[in-house]
Amino acid sequence: MAEAAIAAEEVWLVGAGPGDPDLLTRKAEQLIRAADIVFHDALVGPGVLALIPPHVERVGVGKRSGRHSKDQDSINSLLVAAALAGKRVVRLKGGDPSIFGRSAEEMDELAAHGIVARICPGVTAASAAAAAAGVSLSLRGLARRVQFVTAHARSGEPLDIDWSALADPGATLAIYMGKQAARDVQRQLLAAGMAPHTPVLAVESASLPEERVLSTRLDLLGMAAQSLGAGPALLLIGEAVRARTVAVKWQATRAPVQ
Ligand code: SAH
Repeated sequence: MAEAAIAAEEVWLVGAGPGDPDLLTRKAEQLIRAADIVFHDALVGPGVLALIPPHVERVGVGKRSGRHSKDQDSINSLLVAAALAGKRVVRLKGGDPSIFGRSAEEMDELAAHGIVARICPGVTAASAAAAAAGVSLSLRGLARRVQFVTAHARSGEPLDIDWSALADPGATLAIYMGKQAARDVQRQLLAAGMAPHTPVLAVESASLPEERVLSTRLDLLGMAAQSLGAGPALLLIGEAVRARTVAVKWQATRAPVQ
């Protein structure tokens, strides 16, 4: 197969995966190498950023909660300006661009300027978290549905989530951006009728050297989440993740690092 190339007036939204550079797709790596400029999120791992060749311009446009370095409108404008200036543009996003990556807004803005946006998928955090914990997100006969949910609320606003739809014992919930909202998630899911002993895994920095897997249960989630560190964390909730939570473990477990 030919190396992926970037045409004029074309921007690639590229999934950087969960952090481990070995989890980058080959296409993503080719696109990074073919670019003139790479705009990247704060969540893109240092090992992935190290793959950007020195001659490629690199612009961090990360938005981490509370520390907005660039708002979405200015990111959109930067992408448009770079593409219209004839640069080969890669927009590198943590995980998969199509999952809580605001890629639709960027694509709309690019399209409005006649620029074609193309997507290279990436390994999303839920997959990396399941792999880190050694669990399956679906489980025959037990979890026939996997729901990707964001628990990020605009500052000062309550979470706008239909909790009764989520409190389904036959589903696995993968909650992105749920660390700050862990107490709320616990309270709302219990109020919606989910069993207190429902297994929960909180996986921090999945695929990175500082990866941690914390096993707990729904009624202890808020407290358990306090022991998470500063890395990005994903909550996996449901019977399918019980495989690793036969007993409630308070100590963080660290996956073996090669
Ligand atoms: N597009 C990304 C998600 C962006 S939202 C993807 O597909 O993965 C950002 C959230 O993703 C974080 O708050 C966290 O919940 C989760 N996340 C991203 N990287 C992670 C990692 N390495 N380990 C655990 N959670 C991660």
